[in-house]
Amino acid sequence: MTIKQALSRARETLAANHIEDPSLESELLLRHALGISRVQLYLELEHELSPEQSQQFRRLIKRRLNHEPTAYITGHREFYGLDFLVSPDVLIPRPETELLVEKAIRLAQNQTVSTIAEVGTGSGAIAISLALSLPRVKIYATDISHAALTVAQNNCQKHCVTSRVHLLAGDLLEPLPEPVDLIIANLPYVSESALPQLNIVNFEPALALNGGSDGLEKIRRLCARVSSKLNPGGCLLLEIGQGQSKAVTALCRSLFLLAEVAVSPDLSGIDRVVSLTPASPVADKV
Ligand code: GLN
Repeated sequence: MTIKQALSRARETLAANHIEDPSLESELLLRHALGISRVQLYLELEHELSPEQSQQFRRLIKRRLNHEPTAYITGHREFYGLDFLVSPDVLIPRPETELLVEKAIRLAQNQTVSTIAEVGTGSGAIAISLALSLPRVKIYATDISHAALTVAQNNCQKHCVTSRVHLLAGDLLEPLPEPVDLIIANLPYVSESALPQLNIVNFEPALALNGGSDGLEKIRRLCARVSSKLNPGGCLLLEIGQGQSKAVTALCRSLFLLAEVAVSPDLSGIDRVVSLTPASPVADKV
């Protein structure tokens, strides 16, 4: 069987089993099975697979049919145009989270941002994307999971930002040594009752998804602690889930009088990022 035939068969099998993006997924899995780049794959479409290679590819497709995410099978995921290492210890970075990164970069271009804290960094994808786009900014990235921090550390090394991304173990903002100009977080926001509906939950760490009974427990805890860790004029950027914008903006307004609160939709039109700029001085918290 040639590469071309193997790809087309895999695409059909994945599509028949309702796996999204069957073309991309079969390509990623075949490249992983053969250990080749995208260019090589397309240059060698007529190349015959060895029996071992075919078997290895079939094994990977079987894992995918069992709903194991491709990113965990290959150990990689692209985010913000960069390649990140991932493992089942971390959430797989989502395309919609790129909006959070874009918002942070725009903010840093319009006002002075010297320090950023990313809370719940997981693979480190957000913190590292920011470090690469904002070379003069010092970044702290916290996570309560030591296993996740190991993945983040590997990604910092891969992207040569170990001296600018300071990984800190601990709960939310607790390990932060100083107040910062921007706090950014994609915290777990899936409600406990919705977790079983995510078939990915068998593979992704519940710790990174579970936002408690209404999904907002972690967001609520973070918002309540923000004022002591944000410099005057600083800003908080939060990723939220579908249908959560009303509750989160109301929460922000109740905690921060006269704050500027804004919501931005992602490419699918779902309210995805809440930004909060407390009125200066930060001490206006009630
Ligand atoms: N966006 C993720 C999902 O839909 C959830 C990520 C999170 O909880 N922060 O599965």
